[in-house]
Amino acid sequence: MEAQTANRPDDWPAGTKILVILAHPDDPEFFLGGSIARWCAEGHEVHYAILTDGSRGVSEAYPEPEALSKVRDAEQRAAADTLGVKTITWFGYSDGFLVPDLDVRRRVVRFIREMQPDIVVSCDPTNYYGSGPYLNHPDHRAAGQIVVDSIYPAVGNPSYFPELMEEGIMPHQVSELWLSLTANPNTELDVSTHWERRLEALECHSSQIGERVAFVERMQQRRIDLGDPDGRYIERFRRIIFRR
Ligand SMILES: [Zn+2]
Repeated sequence: MEAQTANRPDDWPAGTKILVILAHPDDPEFFLGGSIARWCAEGHEVHYAILTDGSRGVSEAYPEPEALSKVRDAEQRAAADTLGVKTITWFGYSDGFLVPDLDVRRRVVRFIREMQPDIVVSCDPTNYYGSGPYLNHPDHRAAGQIVVDSIYPAVGNPSYFPELMEEGIMPHQVSELWLSLTANPNTELDVSTHWERRLEALECHSSQIGERVAFVERMQQRRIDLGDPDGRYIERFRRIIFRR
């Protein structure tokens, strides 16, 4: 039993509600697209919340931020449909300038309490450095910080944002928090069989991925670079279990 749990950390009952909260359209697919594909395929209910408007993604085709934001909205919807994600909620903060302040924390606490997910997924706010010559985007760190600070101590505690309770929005206990894009993983998911579906979803983000053939080659190379000796495709997380 112990071994089975270790092999399947996401062995949840069918219909488990999973809320993925990240900064940009395309973050869910880039950070954990294989896992999202797997959770949808296994009958779980996955929802996205995207905190920024995606208006500063690099795109020569759409130099105007407002036009780009609309395009990225549609691309994110197509990618989510490819994976089987149910809903997307846009918070609309300015891309590149996301700040973990109390106003956004209150909005996220409200949203989580209303949505009542079993599992919340975001990214690791302590990760400043990517692999190779990259810095992690400050919006990614901010998104992670906002979600971590919302989950603990605010979402489940009635003494935080009591004005929400006056509106009938009650505290909610989340079972687990999963943080992608982490340098300190404690959980691995083998999502080799969902790699193709993740790639298909990533290809929906046309404004962000450049020339398609070159992008697919880059993704294949990255799979080899990241892969284990058996050629599996693994997505890694920092997982915190609050209750079972
Ligand atoms: Zn991003």
